[in-house]
Amino acid sequence: MKKIDFYLKDALKNGYALGAYNFSNLETLKAICEGSKNTKSPVIVAVSEGALSYLGENYLMSMIETVKNEYKNLPIFLHLDHGKSFEICKKAVKLGFDSIMFDGSSLPFEQNVKNTKKVVDYAHKYGIFVEAELGVLAGIEDTVSADKAIFTNPQAAKEFVSKTNCDSLAVAVGTSHGAYKFKGKSEIRFDILEKIQKEVSIPLVLHGASSVPQNFIKTINKFGGDMNGAKGIDSKILSKCAKDYHICKINTDTDLRLCYIATLRKHFAENPKDFDIRNANLIAIKEMTKLIEEKNHIFNCENRIK
Ligand SMILES: [Zn+2]
Repeated sequence: MKKIDFYLKDALKNGYALGAYNFSNLETLKAICEGSKNTKSPVIVAVSEGALSYLGENYLMSMIETVKNEYKNLPIFLHLDHGKSFEICKKAVKLGFDSIMFDGSSLPFEQNVKNTKKVVDYAHKYGIFVEAELGVLAGIEDTVSADKAIFTNPQAAKEFVSKTNCDSLAVAVGTSHGAYKFKGKSEIRFDILEKIQKEVSIPLVLHGASSVPQNFIKTINKFGGDMNGAKGIDSKILSKCAKDYHICKINTDTDLRLCYIATLRKHFAENPKDFDIRNANLIAIKEMTKLIEEKNHIFNCENRIK
């Protein structure tokens, strides 16, 4: 089986992006694998520190081992999302993750360089891929939050990559974490993205890239939720990032959560006597599978297994 660096370089060369989908339970993981099998797309399955502690490392690693066996021909890469310390990154390497992200983006530049390099030097000894981050995304995601965005500086990105030797770089070009991304129209600073990719040659990563589909928001609100004002990134913008720019990995967490919760809310509102979670979960798996197929299509990642 080819490793994650093969696919991210292939994505860079051929104008597509791998979906990196967050999960914190078996139902979501199954849907991610099923959808990616259907579109023949290599896939990154991501856990945040929060998801890791929610699942427990033994449960997590058993689940991953099982899906890797169940989906023998599907490249599935387990990725640590937003590792904030050397210790958590080291733990992920030891557990057998395929790839880790060290997120030092909230630190001053020199400290971010120093801490990232320490993680890279360690992980590379084990042949593990390291994503780093420069610039700050606004919004909230698990343990990660920021009030204001700071766009990635292209010159600083060049210096950062050469000093740290990281394998891919998460950039801040206008996306943000969570379900409430924009008041007005969603916008990506393609001018900054273009300058960054002129300065660095490694694959780039887009965080905070959920589309927040309005049909899910409507369903959630209709059946007791209150998510007015939730808004995400236009799918066409994501397609453009994958096809025409060096974005090779697009993170999606919020959209899967919205799909899941919309399905559960609707099911139990319409079937008030039902108390068997399996009925609702089976529908949710189907809906999330469809969502993954759509996403892989948007990311131009269909039929990419080699
Ligand atoms: Zn993120």
